[in-house]
Amino acid sequence: MALIKCSECGKEISDKASVCPHCGMPLRSEDRGTYDITITRKKQWFLINPDATITVNNSDKYKLKNDSSIKISLTTGEHTLLFSLGPRKTEAKINVTENATIEMSMNRVSGEINVTGYKLDLKTNTPTVSVGVGGGIFKN
Ligand SMILES: [Zn+2]
Repeated sequence: MALIKCSECGKEISDKASVCPHCGMPLRSEDRGTYDITITRKKQWFLINPDATITVNNSDKYKLKNDSSIKISLTTGEHTLLFSLGPRKTEAKINVTENATIEMSMNRVSGEINVTGYKLDLKTNTPTVSVGVGGGIFKN
């Protein structure tokens, strides 16, 4: 948890607060700070290699091609990233306090989506949502 200054009364408050406990001023996203989260998809060769979809906080969707990166802006605090590729999904919680990088790749054996990176919730490294459906679409 970080402390930020209330833009109204100037007192220090938690960046997780939705309103200032001293003066009642609602906190705006600018008050909390916004950071760049770079998500890179490792270069991998598969017979069929569809674009991945990354859904941020159950709303904004981003496409991520094989061997490419995207940069998204997130405010300080916890966010949910859902990585989808075909029928497979991996959910990661990220606790944003600074710029960070995340790497996604496919497990060649299980076909599951691996997500690794800085400032990710522990659940991330053991995916909280992992839907494996056989299909034999992977070359190796
Ligand atoms: Zn205040």
